[in-house]
Amino acid sequence: MPRQPAKVHHAAPTKAANVTGLLREDIIACYFPPGTKLSFEKLMHHYGVSISTLRESLASLAVEGLVSTHLRRGFWASEVSRDDLFDLTLVRATIESKALRLCFERGGDEWEGKVLHAHHVFRKAVDRAEGGGMFGSQKQHLELHEAILSACGSDRLLELTQHLLFQTNRYRHIFHEYMASPQEHWATHLSIVEAIVARDVETACQQLARHIEESAEYLLDKTDEAEWERRLAAMHEAQAAVVSN
Ligand SMILES: [Zn+2]
Repeated sequence: MPRQPAKVHHAAPTKAANVTGLLREDIIACYFPPGTKLSFEKLMHHYGVSISTLRESLASLAVEGLVSTHLRRGFWASEVSRDDLFDLTLVRATIESKALRLCFERGGDEWEGKVLHAHHVFRKAVDRAEGGGMFGSQKQHLELHEAILSACGSDRLLELTQHLLFQTNRYRHIFHEYMASPQEHWATHLSIVEAIVARDVETACQQLARHIEESAEYLLDKTDEAEWERRLAAMHEAQAAVVSN
């Protein structure tokens, strides 16, 4: 099940950046399930913001791929589908491998140290989160991936990887029980980190691409079209119940 819906945020007026963050969080957590029309009136009330601030936030989230827009017809939480996940995975694997390759050219001992440190912290979090699923170590997992790509030296590339990660995280929320266990995570990440320290660019890039692909393949193998439809329908029902309360 998706996490508990976010609380209503209306209170003091909020700046666009804050609203963008809150709205992003709520879309990723499927408080607004995929395909939901994002009504200006409801969102202005929900986040306590003006229409111009809201427009700015929705436009940013459209760039990130979490919101879709049709000229003059408004905004929707972007749809999800098996084909979209396949495409998203292909692009993520390509972009992140390219970014990692650049890290080998531009990153030195400091980069390696950063990766080792992030990996150590992640490993400790995985040990502590045993039985708690992937969400117990999600923050440290994210920080490890950030460290791995941190020396690429291209802000645009990093921004793009972040947008693709936001989109991936929504799939993770919808199908969290079909994600690989922390133990599986642990072995995969170790092989990437070892290849980085050994300065083995080909192995590191291959392992990172495989890691991204494997997570999606695992989910696609374990679910069929009917399961996706059931899951999405349940999310829309749950959201309708929250709204009517
Ligand atoms: Zn990972």
